[in-house]
Amino acid sequence: MSRILIVEDEKKIARFLELELTHEGYEVDTAYDGRTGLDKALSWQPDLMILDLMLPELSGIEVCRRLRHESDLPIIMLTAKDDVSDKVMGLDMGADDYMTKPFAIEELLARIRVGLKKRRASSAEPASAALVAGPLRLDPASYTVTWSNTPISLTKKEFDLLRYLMAHKGQAVTRDTLLSDVWGYDYAGDTNVVDVYVRYLRHKIDEPFQVKTIHTIRAVGYMFSYE
Ligand code: CA
Repeated sequence: MSRILIVEDEKKIARFLELELTHEGYEVDTAYDGRTGLDKALSWQPDLMILDLMLPELSGIEVCRRLRHESDLPIIMLTAKDDVSDKVMGLDMGADDYMTKPFAIEELLARIRVGLKKRRASSAEPASAALVAGPLRLDPASYTVTWSNTPISLTKKEFDLLRYLMAHKGQAVTRDTLLSDVWGYDYAGDTNVVDVYVRYLRHKIDEPFQVKTIHTIRAVGYMFSYE
């Protein structure tokens, strides 16, 4: 479930967004001023932030500027009027998108979906940091996976799938998401391939080391976790 942080001081709008987004199945948290918004963006680690421009404590522009030092969280900025200079400043400070109030909720929902999709695509991109879960270590730079220093031999796709699951540790990921993010569009619809590769991974990691790292989440898909 994707997490969305709403930073909006107009309580009526914040409440409306909260209801709509919760109804859409998102996990939602709200802050009513810029400082709390910035804190929550860093501590709660949402997948996307809806950020009003005019805020008490810290303006939306300032929240954006400070956040960009530490995070590439997608930001959709809300502006009270169609003020071009505000919009340009927001985008300059690292906002990904903006909407002018009043807005149609359907349009905002569509932009949220785009923001989240970009986010998922970028988290599937190569990065050099190693992913570690207990004794399991996956190193994208050297393309190696080890369990307590014992090398595990994986094919390219097994490696990509494990990497994606480990990068989303503790999150249930749907088969469709795995297909589009790990396999790309060519395989759209054929979710069976995901189950097959999960089986391969379990055979190479869970079974030999007598652990359960890849969990089946009924009616959703899979989740990586290591206790
Ligand atoms: Ca405001």
